[in-house]
Amino acid sequence: MAKHRIVKGVSVAPGLALGPTHVVHARPHVVPTWCVAEEDLAREVGRLREAVDQTAEELRQRQKTVAGQIGERDAGIFSLHRMILTDPATLKEVESTIRDQRINAEAAVQALIDRVTKRLGATENDGTRGWAADFSDPWRAVLSVLMQHDRETIEQGEGQVILAAAELTPQVVTFLERDRILAVITEAGGRFSHGAVLARSFGIPCVVGLPNLLSRLEQGMRVLVDGDTGSVQLRPDQDDVDQFLARLERRKAREKKLGLHAALEPMTTDGKRFGVFVNVESLRDLDTFPPAYADGVGLLRTEFMYMERQHFPSEEEQYRLYRRVLEKLGGRPVTLRTLDIGNDKQLPYFKTPREANPALGWRGLRISLEWQDLLRVQLRAALRASTHGSLRILLPMVSSIEEVRAVHRIYDEVHRQLVDQGYEIPAHVPFGIMVEVPSVLFVLPSILPEIDFVSVGTNDLVQYLLAVDRDNPLVSKLYDVHHPAVVSALAQVAKDARAAGKPASVCGEMAGDYATALMLLGQGYDAVSVVPMLVPEVKYAIRETSSDEAREIAVQAAQQTTSEGVRSVLAKCRERLHLRQVADAAEAGADTGKRAAR
Ligand code: PEP
Ligand code: MG
Repeated sequence: MAKHRIVKGVSVAPGLALGPTHVVHARPHVVPTWCVAEEDLAREVGRLREAVDQTAEELRQRQKTVAGQIGERDAGIFSLHRMILTDPATLKEVESTIRDQRINAEAAVQALIDRVTKRLGATENDGTRGWAADFSDPWRAVLSVLMQHDRETIEQGEGQVILAAAELTPQVVTFLERDRILAVITEAGGRFSHGAVLARSFGIPCVVGLPNLLSRLEQGMRVLVDGDTGSVQLRPDQDDVDQFLARLERRKAREKKLGLHAALEPMTTDGKRFGVFVNVESLRDLDTFPPAYADGVGLLRTEFMYMERQHFPSEEEQYRLYRRVLEKLGGRPVTLRTLDIGNDKQLPYFKTPREANPALGWRGLRISLEWQDLLRVQLRAALRASTHGSLRILLPMVSSIEEVRAVHRIYDEVHRQLVDQGYEIPAHVPFGIMVEVPSVLFVLPSILPEIDFVSVGTNDLVQYLLAVDRDNPLVSKLYDVHHPAVVSALAQVAKDARAAGKPASVCGEMAGDYATALMLLGQGYDAVSVVPMLVPEVKYAIRETSSDEAREIAVQAAQQTTSEGVRSVLAKCRERLHLRQVADAAEAGADTGKRAAR
């Protein structure tokens, strides 16, 4: 294997992939840069010229329209912009940047804008600074045309690609239809960011933290992604591909073996039933596994259904969506979390103010309680759909009992309204809260009598407990799900919920690690909710463990004073299960039938 072509990063979602890359610019202000192969330079210059011609033509049309509406004088600016664009010296300069630096047209145009803005924008003179703006404007339009074309071309294409981007955001992971994405690789992004959550939930292999990735890629370059170890190999040779295919076969065999457990009851060896639910973001997720393999949906992140649209979904649209999820689950509970937007989960049609500290800002329930119509419409749709299955409602980002009461008041009004309007809806729908804001850890006993269940969102709880931004690569090493404070907080929530006789589960990503799931079982949780892809592993671990063994893991984890200590407790547990898996394989599946009967 050619070592120099291997870029090491951080694994976010497991799996292997081999295919051509497509560099994505998912945010309008991010201009991607990638290398252009020697033989493709002429084509790249051609792309630039076409985009310039198209922009010049658009400016001409605009000039005509404005001249007709307001007058030739006011339309003059467009003529100036066209002159700027068609200046042969500037065009030559951009073309040279493409050829000399072997970079894509978008990056070369951006470099031109940066150069001019820096040179002229820094002067004291207002007129000169204004000229910098006038100069940049038409070239920014060229940039939009280039990026738009690029997007349209890939959208209209058919093949599968490996998406490469500067940052792992939900927009990048949903850039193309799921079936067309082989893997996602990015320069930056946290393991617990929402983009990462989404990649795992879709079962897309994903690696982040790949230094200078984009400048080493060419559009369409074949790469090999190893989501298990967190590395990417550029231009693999035939040997690499052969090894990759052999690993892929072994992986499939293992998945098939684990898959046998997916259909079985998550019951410990001494017969204790533990719930295994799934986290889903869209109806598409429900097609990736048979719903009967899970106890239900433990977390329906409804915001992704909003993010895929061009406007807020109407009550009717939401009703239809929720109804389909409930029907698909055939009576198993569906835990619908109310809208949790804000921070990195932005709606393209709902502009929120720029915040210095968005994770601590306007997000989740805070938005729903301020823009109450959003919550009312969502609750109406959910309640109407509730007759088609078993619905539970979950509130994100709760920080106080007052917020819970405020939602209860709105819920009661909505419920009354629907009954008055003749809808036949259940008298009571179970109501729960996410435990993800640390303040709740201290007031949970007083909130519990007013709710029906709790679900711990460790992705956020860890970031708030440790004061480490889950999206910030600079501090990602400090984002430590095994911190003794996290273990202790988890144990406390389980204890409080037990004391109040209310079910508790964990739906954060850490619950998908099967050893952690066993620790949670031992701490007294009733269930975990994990991405569908991890259901087989978690069920396997539960079925290979006794309640006493699980309790012992929890006791030992609680005794640790360091994260390393917690990790070694979980590692021992993994080792035990791994050995059992090897022993099982030797028995050639002879016991599968026996266990299936359990
Ligand atoms: C969490 O915070 O753990 C959680 C499940 O919610 P999200 O990842 O959507 O913020
Ligand atoms: Mg959260």
